[in-house]
Amino acid sequence: MTYKAFLDNLDKRLEKYFKLHKEHINCCLGCSSCCEKGDYPLSQIELEYLMQGFTALSEKDKITVQNNIKNIVKGGACPFLIENRCSVYPFRPIICRAHGLAYICHDNVVKVPYCAHEGKNYTKVYKNGEIEINPINENLDTKELLKDFDFGEIRNLYDWINH
Ligand code: SF4
Ligand code: SF4
Repeated sequence: MTYKAFLDNLDKRLEKYFKLHKEHINCCLGCSSCCEKGDYPLSQIELEYLMQGFTALSEKDKITVQNNIKNIVKGGACPFLIENRCSVYPFRPIICRAHGLAYICHDNVVKVPYCAHEGKNYTKVYKNGEIEINPINENLDTKELLKDFDFGEIRNLYDWINH
């Protein structure tokens, strides 16, 4: 399977999961706080795909992203975020696609998006670090999803840019 075909398939599953939890999801166009603070870990295969998105940008957006890259701060905003929207949306990494959902990862640990603390996703069913509804029953960690690929190393976006 090509990486693109894998992404199409993943997007369909994620769409189903977001629908399943829709009453607990507040993600919408313009809500970008999850792109303003974070590590954005991604693998080499995702980075290469992301750079295809960069190549396809308008000259103006390319300059904005290049300036953002020059000023990137560890743990800060993603350089691809322009005016509260993802400039490379179809090319974004896996973590950006799955982010927002609460799911079961390894050893039955439930991952809940950090914005549950901010009155956004799952807030009404979030108590003491846990949610009171069934999480998505698929491990949506990048490593797990990419297990059939030779995906290369996984690094935070800042480290890809600075090493
Ligand atoms: S995951 Fe949270 S912060 Fe990110 S878009 Fe969805 S509601 Fe907004
Ligand atoms: S690639 Fe796009 S979706 Fe992912 S963190 Fe950056 S701006 Fe947000």
